[in-house]
Amino acid sequence: MMAAFPLFERYPRLACVARRALGDFPTPVRSLPKLAKAVGTADLYLKNDGVSARAYGGNKVRKLEFLLADAVEAGARAVVTFGYAGSNHAAATAVYAREVGLQAISMLLLQPNASYVRRNLLVGLAVGAELHEFRTPTALAAATALRLARARVQTGHAAYVIPPGGSSPIGTLGYVNAALELDRQITAGELPEPERIYIPLGSSGSVAGLLIGLAALGHRTRVVAIRVAGARWASAASVQRLFDRTVRLLREKDPSFARLSFPAVQLEVRHDFFGSGYAKFSEEGARALRLAREHEGLSLDGSYTAKTLAALLADAAITPGSGPTLFWNTYNSRDLSSLVAGTDPARLPARLRHYFETPLQPLDHEN
Ligand SMILES: *Cc1c(COP(=O)(O)O)cnc(C)c1O
Repeated sequence: MMAAFPLFERYPRLACVARRALGDFPTPVRSLPKLAKAVGTADLYLKNDGVSARAYGGNKVRKLEFLLADAVEAGARAVVTFGYAGSNHAAATAVYAREVGLQAISMLLLQPNASYVRRNLLVGLAVGAELHEFRTPTALAAATALRLARARVQTGHAAYVIPPGGSSPIGTLGYVNAALELDRQITAGELPEPERIYIPLGSSGSVAGLLIGLAALGHRTRVVAIRVAGARWASAASVQRLFDRTVRLLREKDPSFARLSFPAVQLEVRHDFFGSGYAKFSEEGARALRLAREHEGLSLDGSYTAKTLAALLADAAITPGSGPTLFWNTYNSRDLSSLVAGTDPARLPARLRHYFETPLQPLDHEN
């Protein structure tokens, strides 16, 4: 039996939108008492999308449930997506594309080295994704045009293009549902209504979707979005664009869906924990990562979630008496060692092998 899906229950007309159940929802919420005590704050909670699915968790699963269903419905045989070399999104897409019978093609860009980069590359390789790395966005764009043309000739079908991070309006529906899912957990008494939700801001889909769901429900919760990618991609403007496009899609599918206007006052984009660049681990992040592991047994990553928790902890230290705060973990918590066991990095395309031959960045304390 299909588990209840809050978005479709609340808006039955949206049930015409294709969705493939890939994850385990609702994801758990719990309080973080030891971490809260360590930093001198009161009400701290976790929404753990790290366990959003068995094979590979994290925030991309919610988006992929819609994106891959849309790709299958469109008759595609392959999906093409984009990211930096260690992209959690590209790895998750590879895992779940195979599950629904699609070939995954990852067009990747050079990035700073880290253990998780190696692991995600091996995941892609293990599940049979086609991996390509480029030094510049221009080279990537040219190769993508060629690859798309070749896919059409070879299979007779257009490949389905998934934008970076899965943040199209279709993908963003997954996070509209996430807000409705959280609302049910609040109603059930699993946590109080948070005053603030801390979540990373990458390609904007998670934040835009949450804001739509919260606004549709009339929640006043503020979303504190910690920018972890270049300001050109991640900004209040990028969130607003995706918010508006996704509301338009929702209203096309269900005209009774409210004509929501962007709740600018509910969104706080923070640029001060980005550090020195995308996927460059920061000292504050490394400290937050250590605290989460020591006090709550929670594994974070240096590129996204550690920077986000660092912001939360810094704010809690300044205003310890503020209301319930929710940390939204977007990073895969599943152990991938059996998935990648026996996968030999020597089988990677030559251009990607350098991640296994050059040192990790100094703050990579994962092992
Ligand atoms: C992709 C990703 C994000 C960013 O989410 P967006 O919806 O792209 O803004 C955050 N955390 C992790 C671990 C991710 O992989």
